[in-house]
Amino acid sequence: MVKQIKLSEPFIEKAEIDAVNKVLMSGRLVQGPLVKELEKDFSLLCGIKYAIATNNGTSALHTALHSLGIGKGDEVITTPFTFVATANAILMVGAKPIFVDIDEETFNIDSELIGRKITKDTKAILAVDLFGQPADYKKINQIAKKYGLFVVEDAAQSIGATYFNKKTGNLADIGTFSLYATKNITSGEGGMITTNNKNYYEKSKLFRSHGQDENDRYSYLGLGYNYRMTDIAAAIALQQLKKIDFLTRKRKQIAGIYNSELKDIKGLITPKVKTGIESVYHQYAIRITPEFKLTREKFRDYLHEKGIETYIYYPKGLYSFDHLRFGNEKENFPVTERITKEVLSIPVNPKLKNEDVYYIINVIKNL
Ligand SMILES: *Cc1c(COP(=O)(O)O)cnc(C)c1O
Repeated sequence: MVKQIKLSEPFIEKAEIDAVNKVLMSGRLVQGPLVKELEKDFSLLCGIKYAIATNNGTSALHTALHSLGIGKGDEVITTPFTFVATANAILMVGAKPIFVDIDEETFNIDSELIGRKITKDTKAILAVDLFGQPADYKKINQIAKKYGLFVVEDAAQSIGATYFNKKTGNLADIGTFSLYATKNITSGEGGMITTNNKNYYEKSKLFRSHGQDENDRYSYLGLGYNYRMTDIAAAIALQQLKKIDFLTRKRKQIAGIYNSELKDIKGLITPKVKTGIESVYHQYAIRITPEFKLTREKFRDYLHEKGIETYIYYPKGLYSFDHLRFGNEKENFPVTERITKEVLSIPVNPKLKNEDVYYIINVIKNL
């Protein structure tokens, strides 16, 4: 039988199952003590003052943008090479996503190109730490300061990563995380907002729960949604947080093996991490360029035949979709266009055994 190696798998053990059982028996299922505890642990992890739990990463982004006062008529600069939630959250507050092409080495927004997309309507830069690598925040924060813009960090894929010794979630005015099933740690569905600003913190808490006044619950201080996290999810996430160092170490170790074993294959480019940055390798995305033996699609079929699951994150730039186009023509995104045709994510999840990693390497080398 051929091996079956999955691209990503949640790392769930007995501790998570026991924690869920305990919550179910406790009688307190939503936004209770475990959600509070999770928020506290998250703020410690990020080295930040405030953390606000939500029911998913998309609602965290929506809430974060709302708390900054971004809305109708505003423009938010972001990357087209990300999961669609990043750009959809901009639409959710009534603002317009303005895309900027990416850097071919990091796959993150190219900070050198941001300046030319700033207009009088620009209110924020929403950067994404793609595949676990923080974006170029020194430059991004510098531009934001010069033009009076907010910076939002979509850290859905980068929990635990560092940028010049600072943790993700603490690199911008406000940060957001996702605890979705495929992320580095999970609660099934879940999200988190992080900030040092008390005002954004208070606004986010209200927006999360129908604008309900904490001290007078049936007094509504503005529009809000039901974005509350359950204690069931928080119980899982708390257990996951306990092993985040182990899980991250495993990912880095696997990535390190790939980096040295795959580096001299013609037409295959391994991912690069910039100086001062520690990536948490949410994905290990190699590039299959025209010099490689097979096309990316043929290579992918070959790996699947050998039982190695791969995925293309992401097959299209977000400007390709009607509801996000806003006059952005694909000719303006040559790097994203090329990268979407080259990338291929290979398994880097902590459930892989060393023998799986070397099996994958040998399958690639034996081609
Ligand atoms: C997963 C993800 C989100 C959305 O998170 P959900 O929890 O799935 O809503 C947002 N941005 C990026 C970059 C993501 O990878």
